[in-house]
Amino acid sequence: MSVTQQPILDALAKIASPRGVALTSANVLSAITVNDGKVFFSINVDAAEARAWESVRAQAEAAVRAIPGVSLAMIALTAERKPASSPPPHRPAQGVPPVSSHRPPQSPTSPMSKQSEIPGIAAVIAVASGKGGVGKSTTALNLALGLRDLGLRIGLLDADIYGPSVPRLTGIREKPELNDERKMIPIQRFGLAIMSIGFLVEEDTAMIWRGPMVMSAITQMLRDVAWGTLDILVVDMPPGTGDAQLTLAQNVPLKGAIIISTPQDLSLIDARRGLAMFRKVNVPVLGIVENMSFFQCPHCGTRSDIFGHGGARQEAERLAVPFLGEIPLHMSIRVTSDAGTPVVESEPDGPYAAIYRAIGEKVRDQLQGAIAAA
Ligand code: ADP
Repeated sequence: MSVTQQPILDALAKIASPRGVALTSANVLSAITVNDGKVFFSINVDAAEARAWESVRAQAEAAVRAIPGVSLAMIALTAERKPASSPPPHRPAQGVPPVSSHRPPQSPTSPMSKQSEIPGIAAVIAVASGKGGVGKSTTALNLALGLRDLGLRIGLLDADIYGPSVPRLTGIREKPELNDERKMIPIQRFGLAIMSIGFLVEEDTAMIWRGPMVMSAITQMLRDVAWGTLDILVVDMPPGTGDAQLTLAQNVPLKGAIIISTPQDLSLIDARRGLAMFRKVNVPVLGIVENMSFFQCPHCGTRSDIFGHGGARQEAERLAVPFLGEIPLHMSIRVTSDAGTPVVESEPDGPYAAIYRAIGEKVRDQLQGAIAAA
């Protein structure tokens, strides 16, 4: 059954808002997107009012979910701070990143220990890069598979909401089903539990996530997904170290972060920014990976350091963070990635799978405490 806007508006009109008028008359609703039974919109209020609106958001979500034909409702409460005369520390007055109502706003320096853990998941870790195109998603997926090979229960959350690449890298085309508690069931592929915003919306629709809904959508993918029991959930972060990433890093209960860099200088500068970002929010950096580290000729096996390899290792030493490993630039990695059969899966006995597993071992060793405690 295809869902139209009208029953959604009718349902929302029955909900009272803290402003004393119906939700639909309070002038707080964004455009409503309906996509194949999935409904997305946001309720936009001032930060000062956010608490009073949380129950309205929950009521709206329940009301929309109850409409026949609706398979998923993602309703974000976005609390934009007004440009203030005295901006909060670390933040520009304008364009303040969104604050999800799912949790109270925190200062960027609040300790991670204050964040609520996700039941069933021993450790959530982020894979980040200072800029796009350095192979972050490819590394996140192959690392997840490397960790799987070590006998761990692993999930992968593609939080790269601007350009989700996990559907392409895994070849997953199906959409997640809902369980009895109406939580999304992650897709099982290669022995991993996988979730991506790309499973829910078409690539061009993903544009609607720009702006205030980003954090809320990611929070929902973390907490409204039936992840089951996992040793490690690998989060493929959106590229960059801007406000959106900072908000994410401070809102997700991370046990650690891995930074992917290519050897080029520019990328290393970006990696340094990534490091600074995680340090600001007290997330331990588990280490740096140098991707596309050197070129190995597919014909003769000769190695060429086309980007001046080794920069990331030196940088890691200088910054006193672990160096996790170097991954060559190789056709097999690209071709298998782009075909949806990642190299650790398709060439498990090959040299690249061994590299990702070795990186996985270094990551696992650092998370041993958290895994054992869970
Ligand atoms: P990001 O997530 O940083 O934007 P991707 O993981 O999507 O980057 O990778 C960008 C492109 O580079 C993809 O086509 C991918 O297959 C390719 N790629 C990534 N790592 C390697 C590698 N080590 N060797 C060859 N190609 C790679």
